[in-house]
Amino acid sequence: MLSYRHAFHAGNHADVLKHVVLVEAMRYLLRKDSPLWYIDTHAGLGQYTLNPRPPAGQAEWLDGIARLWQEPALPAALEPYLARVRTLNPDGQLRRYPGSPRLAADLLRPGDKAWLYELLGKDFEVLQAQFREQPQVRCTAADGFAALKGLLPPTPRRGLIFIDPSYEVKSDYQRLLDTLADALDRFAGGCYLVWYPVVQRAEALELPSRLLALQPPRWLRTELRVKSPPAEGYGLYGSGMFVINPTWTLPGMLGEVLPWLARRLAMDESATHVLQFDLP
Ligand code: SAM
Repeated sequence: MLSYRHAFHAGNHADVLKHVVLVEAMRYLLRKDSPLWYIDTHAGLGQYTLNPRPPAGQAEWLDGIARLWQEPALPAALEPYLARVRTLNPDGQLRRYPGSPRLAADLLRPGDKAWLYELLGKDFEVLQAQFREQPQVRCTAADGFAALKGLLPPTPRRGLIFIDPSYEVKSDYQRLLDTLADALDRFAGGCYLVWYPVVQRAEALELPSRLLALQPPRWLRTELRVKSPPAEGYGLYGSGMFVINPTWTLPGMLGEVLPWLARRLAMDESATHVLQFDLP
């Protein structure tokens, strides 16, 4: 039984990192005229209404996107991401936040296609209702890990695959690795964007090295750690993105914005970032 609800976390520091990477990769891939498939294995609601008065302990967006909103010294490289958030909040009041499906679908051109998977029935209904008018966006209430097999390789031979599990169940870590190994066999040239939590849990701490053990042809790893690890418990103190076949612009763009983001989103003085890549 799934109990994770992304609505409680929408717009937090982890969403900022994953969506900055997503928007940059999408924009780069859409520079080429040939059609692109966007595949989102864990779609969520599509977009979120931000609670203006969140209960104590649930004010995650206030320490995330709200710290970038109306920031006068915003690095230019973050502008395309912020511009997507602004389109949902045209009066300048930050009330809504786009999820990955909304960010990606708004950028699609007529020949492109989006495949969105969401397992939780209630969330799926909200997601599907949003894209009813957009026939190039196909929403399915199914397991995104399993569905990926049937979609690869994409018929246009160009694809961005966004994998953003909640890691609510421990088996998500192994399923992610198995799914990626299979996906790379089917479509080695795909651009895979994988989000992972930085928490004090063996499966999470080992994940980056296990991802590298898949021997991806080209890869990039980035993390944003906003505070020191909790003295006890599994609380999220940062998050990461592992990208296989990253777009050429990502290392430079992240190198520019990560130090700024680590300062701006810091919850204590230990906030820091990681950026590693191998792009032969
Ligand atoms: N990608 C979204 C975004 O960036 O806005 C957020 C996704 S949220 C972290 C993870 C979502 O995956 C949840 O809505 C959860 O219900 C859903 N989910 C969990 N297991 C799933 C599975 N095996 N297949 C598809 N969706 C799943």
